[in-house]
Amino acid sequence: MTKQVVLGSLRIGGDAPVSVQTMYDVPLSRLESNFASRMDVLKAMGCDVMRISYPDIKEHDQLERAVKECSMPVVADIHFDYRNALDAIKCGVAGLRINPGNIGDRWKTEEVVKAAKDNGLAIRIGLNSGSLPQNTKNLSVPRLMTDTALEYISWFENLGFYNTVVSLKASDPELTYEAYRHFASQSDYPLHIGVTEAGGTVTSCVRSTWTLGRLLEQGIGATLRYSITGCIEDEVTAGVELLRTLGLRKGGVRIVSCPMCGRKSFDSQSFLAQVQNRLLACKKDICVAIMGCQVNGPGEAKGADIAIAGIGRKAFLYKKGEIYCEVGIEEAEDRLFELIDTL
Ligand code: SF4
Repeated sequence: MTKQVVLGSLRIGGDAPVSVQTMYDVPLSRLESNFASRMDVLKAMGCDVMRISYPDIKEHDQLERAVKECSMPVVADIHFDYRNALDAIKCGVAGLRINPGNIGDRWKTEEVVKAAKDNGLAIRIGLNSGSLPQNTKNLSVPRLMTDTALEYISWFENLGFYNTVVSLKASDPELTYEAYRHFASQSDYPLHIGVTEAGGTVTSCVRSTWTLGRLLEQGIGATLRYSITGCIEDEVTAGVELLRTLGLRKGGVRIVSCPMCGRKSFDSQSFLAQVQNRLLACKKDICVAIMGCQVNGPGEAKGADIAIAGIGRKAFLYKKGEIYCEVGIEEAEDRLFELIDTL
């Protein structure tokens, strides 16, 4: 078991459940007016940590507002300028993500570590395969990543700082996998796992699931992120789904939906896109099926607590395999959630 790290109200590592992270996809200079409600939805979907890029202290007020309005612990992502890290601490963030190799003089990183310690923050040492120190000993990349992370950890420990999480990311899934495995064999600090720059939704889901799934099965990984060129809601959906599939997160709606075929008489794809995030935010431990036709759909969805199948502009709702009611497609979403509420 790894050490446990405190990130605001969250515990990472040790006996804490594996947490899911994503990264805010809008520059702070354009912080959305609906930021708070968007964060609430992501949290309800199963997100635990929000990382926010903080490249410029001119955005102090926006970061401060984001921290106040975010229903999850916020981690400020800092590149190059240690002053941004010190300022982010003043804004109330729960953690910092830094790569000491990008900060410059050692004293600058030390200022950050001391301030993090004084204010009870966590630090993620975020190493990427593309930004490693010179490989003077001709080590393999996983070995170089591990040795570099261990050097930083011991430096931080000499400053009396232990609230550290490590990430060792690469865009190559096998390299990422080997780096995490190697680190886990050498250290009991908790790991934030992920494949970086992993591509669009489909590509990232394949690469990340293959890599993270194998690590998690070996007990490696305390917190994770799917890195997707796409929307962050998908990153959270994928992360939560992986944990549920591995039995590492319980509860919530298990969505079943048919692959659709030539018999489809209902646009189940659009309907699923319309209701998915709302279903994922529901905490009931139930199965909901969305099927493309009324001929085979109900039979195929027999195991579901609630099912919906349609013909053209009509939808049929099923409860525990029995037909419950017929509704117009316009009211199908509302009636579906009313029915879920009865369970
Ligand atoms: Fe095809 Fe209907 Fe089965 Fe969907 S539920 S795969 S549309 S037969």
